[in-house]
Amino acid sequence: MKLTVLGASGAFPAPGTATSGYLLEIDGHHILIDCGSGVLSRLQEHIRLDQLEAIILTHLHSDHTSDIGVLKYAMDLGRKFGQPIGKIPLWSPATPQPLAIALESPDNFEQHTLQADQSFELLGATIHCFAMEHPFETYGLRIEKDGKVLATTADTIACPNLAPLLRAADLALMDAGALERLRTPAMVHLTATECGAFAADSQVQRLLLIHLLPFFDPEESLTEARRHFPAVEIAQPGWTYAI
Ligand SMILES: [Zn+2]
Ligand SMILES: [Zn+2]
Repeated sequence: MKLTVLGASGAFPAPGTATSGYLLEIDGHHILIDCGSGVLSRLQEHIRLDQLEAIILTHLHSDHTSDIGVLKYAMDLGRKFGQPIGKIPLWSPATPQPLAIALESPDNFEQHTLQADQSFELLGATIHCFAMEHPFETYGLRIEKDGKVLATTADTIACPNLAPLLRAADLALMDAGALERLRTPAMVHLTATECGAFAADSQVQRLLLIHLLPFFDPEESLTEARRHFPAVEIAQPGWTYAI
């Protein structure tokens, strides 16, 4: 498997970047995980839209979904201009219901619902969904192929499902949308310190911090995470990581 970071900014895109969007390549097949602000532009730097075979939205917050609307336009217009764009299977949570309904586009998407503890096969990989703790229904994804494991927490606070989600993952993408210095009782993201601790406890091989707010100094996030996991990195937009 190969994972290309299209965007990893938290909440809104830093200048010249995108919010959550990850292109997963499995034996030449392409899956888009999340479709945030700026992701459609970045996606087309790597593949044509007719090469996109599946989309998974971890949850329906805008920073993970906002380019779906313009993706629909691109697909409709692409067809009009002769591109061989078919329906793309799209997995997303069923709630919040008004947002789930807004995804309906029968010409473009074949909709599927993500559920807690659900496993499904997709383009040669096995995907298991773990319910995360976040204001919207959110799923962490554990994606396995030929004994290799990619785990992504999506957006979450510390919760019991992180351990089975991350267990011995070859590559883990973890929401570092918070910092210990800014800790409040009402946080909705992990701190970088918590990311490092969970990754170490789960014997993760490689940890990428994602979802840093554009206001953060990445060095501060790295310093926090290194307390528990020395080999941590910040996910770099445009970089491809082999799994
Ligand atoms: Zn969120
Ligand atoms: Zn988010």
